[in-house]
Amino acid sequence: MKVSKFGGTSVANAAQIKKVANIVTSDPERKFIVVSAPGKRSEEDFKVTDMLIQLGNCYLNNEPFENCEEIVMERFREIVEELNLPESLLGEINDKIKQVLQMPSSNTRKLNALKAIGEDSSAKILSEYLKTIGIKASYVNPKDAGIIVSYKNGNSKILPESYEKIHQLRNLDGILVIPGFFGYTEDGQLVTFSRGGSDISGSIIAAGVKASLYENFTDVDSVYAVNPKIVKNPKKINTLTYKEMRELSYAGFSVFHDEALRPAFDKKIPVCIKNTNKPELPGTMIIAEKKQNQKCVAGIASDTGFSSLYISKYLMNQEVGFGRKLFGILEDAGVSFEHAPSGIDDMTIIIRDSKLSKEKEAYILKRIEEELDPDTIKMERGLAIVMVVGEGLVSTIGIASKATAAISNANVNIEMINQGSSEVSMMFGIKSENLDKAVRSLYNAYFEEVESKEKATV
Ligand code: ASP
Repeated sequence: MKVSKFGGTSVANAAQIKKVANIVTSDPERKFIVVSAPGKRSEEDFKVTDMLIQLGNCYLNNEPFENCEEIVMERFREIVEELNLPESLLGEINDKIKQVLQMPSSNTRKLNALKAIGEDSSAKILSEYLKTIGIKASYVNPKDAGIIVSYKNGNSKILPESYEKIHQLRNLDGILVIPGFFGYTEDGQLVTFSRGGSDISGSIIAAGVKASLYENFTDVDSVYAVNPKIVKNPKKINTLTYKEMRELSYAGFSVFHDEALRPAFDKKIPVCIKNTNKPELPGTMIIAEKKQNQKCVAGIASDTGFSSLYISKYLMNQEVGFGRKLFGILEDAGVSFEHAPSGIDDMTIIIRDSKLSKEKEAYILKRIEEELDPDTIKMERGLAIVMVVGEGLVSTIGIASKATAAISNANVNIEMINQGSSEVSMMFGIKSENLDKAVRSLYNAYFEEVESKEKATV
């Protein structure tokens, strides 16, 4: 039995939903279907989730919200009418919006419930449509499916005991259509995952029902070896390991949510990224282990929006508790860090800009000055990171030298290197304005030059 998840562009309009129905019915193993809210139909279009959030914010700020409501309803009206589904579905969606707005609950609860309407409606529409074309299908609410989560500081995490309940879905007849992106706490409160979180729902269902495969349908043919916005027509990746995918999706590979791998990984369920518009293509498989002879660099990930906090102090290596105090200050500020390369008297902590407001920065710097008495302390914004990712990378001779040579060929200074802690990646910190040229040069070195040499020797 397979779990197939369809992203926002796959359910963006009636034509896309028909493609989804074709995909679902073309393989009898596709039993559990997870859907996103309707996404963008074109580059300039809007996502239903964004519009629902805007609606909620306007309502909570006592601003006119009717226009947003109308836009959301218009999108669903178009879909329902083109699929020839009963009008009553639209009434249900609109009643739901009104009911949530009037709910006597906290703003967060209201917003969560509003956001979930996109996915919830998608699932109802798809299951109805499948029925009209003669397929036995039913809508299953995440609560009934058993997606019960813990909820702390805005973060929802699946409870391990949920999997048993989810497993029982296998006993239900027909195709089950489940909305992604949300679950329920033990006391029945609806909570959403982070943005793009329908991937997480799909992975949870796949782990729970012990699927033979978790298919993640999106709008790209596969995962690419590098960001296609930086390098034109990059190589497609056929196979990746979970670890490689984790590192790639962490830094700029937005095809798959970085929290979504965990449930599938824990239960060793293979994941396949596929294109709804070209389902005949093989896509990218994500598995536990790869054959050793496969190319050791799988891809080059990159992202901007990082800051580095550099601290130096003579004899730092002999000062017991220095690291604990430093990380304690970050913890008190509520800031998590990404990397922390260190030397005997220095330490650099890489933090995502989005986690570091000006106020938090000032707080952290002040406390370090006062409590750690450093020789130097420097915060630098505008940093980008590039990750060269691949299993076997640490044990292959020449990978690092090739990377540094490629970056220097692009005339880019490396601000920082972090290699060793992760077995599958090498991290380089560079200035944001140099990112594209460094990435292009690295891509050439690992993917183009190797290929042309291989061709030359044949
Ligand atoms: N609809 C949600 C979002 O836009 C979740 C998803 O599509 O996965 O973030």
